[in-house]
Amino acid sequence: MKRIRLSTVRDKIKDLVQQANFELQDDVLKIIQDWEQQEESPAGKAVLSQILQNAQIAREEKLGLCQDTGLAVFFVELGEQVQLEYDDNLPSLKEAITEGVRQGYEEGYLRKSVVEDPVRRKNTGDNTPAYIHWELVPGEVFKVSFVAKGGGAENMSAIRMFAPAAGLEGIEDFVVETVDKAGSNPCPPIIVGVGVGGNFEYSALLAKKALLRRPLGSHNPDPFYADMEKRLLKRINNLGIGPQGMGGRCTALAVHVESFPCHIASMPAAVNIQCHSHRVLSFEL
Ligand code: SF4
Repeated sequence: MKRIRLSTVRDKIKDLVQQANFELQDDVLKIIQDWEQQEESPAGKAVLSQILQNAQIAREEKLGLCQDTGLAVFFVELGEQVQLEYDDNLPSLKEAITEGVRQGYEEGYLRKSVVEDPVRRKNTGDNTPAYIHWELVPGEVFKVSFVAKGGGAENMSAIRMFAPAAGLEGIEDFVVETVDKAGSNPCPPIIVGVGVGGNFEYSALLAKKALLRRPLGSHNPDPFYADMEKRLLKRINNLGIGPQGMGGRCTALAVHVESFPCHIASMPAAVNIQCHSHRVLSFEL
């Protein structure tokens, strides 16, 4: 049985949200650097160079990569053999994560981007609540994955309930059409998370998970979906939107697809778009 103190979780979350907001990770930087060399459009190339310069300044000065420091979204894998120790007056794991977000966003001078009611629009003032997705897993695993999700990219996401007859072609057209319609709004170059299957809510979760489950640019282990990722990336980069919509070939850095079994009468598909400010980080205890 593994024992984990809630105060340790809170402190790790506090550091995690800041580090993710200050530092673009190596897999993201590498793909942007490669594209900076290849991009044909001079304006697009200049944007990529500015993104890299911005990333360097953010890392060195400990400043947010973008003014929109995002909703704090977590995927938590909690092992059945993990015992949580309740200390520092933290009443639950959920509250430990929430408190980590509260302290991290305050300490890092990160913008508070949450309103307490979708219509009445009063800011909660501390970037909480966090958006937490729980998964109970066997063993002593305790893994937390975080993504800071900016509004501009999230707003361009979409879901569609297809009939199975739409086939793979129908889903691929939907993904390309969603990116095309989004244009410059999600601050390209983007990362495209695609969820195929499950049911209505599960396909949206798959699309989000697709953004952070694997290093950027790696492919789905199933060759069928790996080929789909390659085809989609090619089609998206032929749209000509380019970095920040300035024209060019680099509209997406990667397309990641995740799938799940579904009902015989359904074929749901969801697209979750993430901007170039791909602030994803995880830790295990
Ligand atoms: S979409 Fe991303 S890069 Fe654009 S403003 Fe939002 S967080 Fe920043």
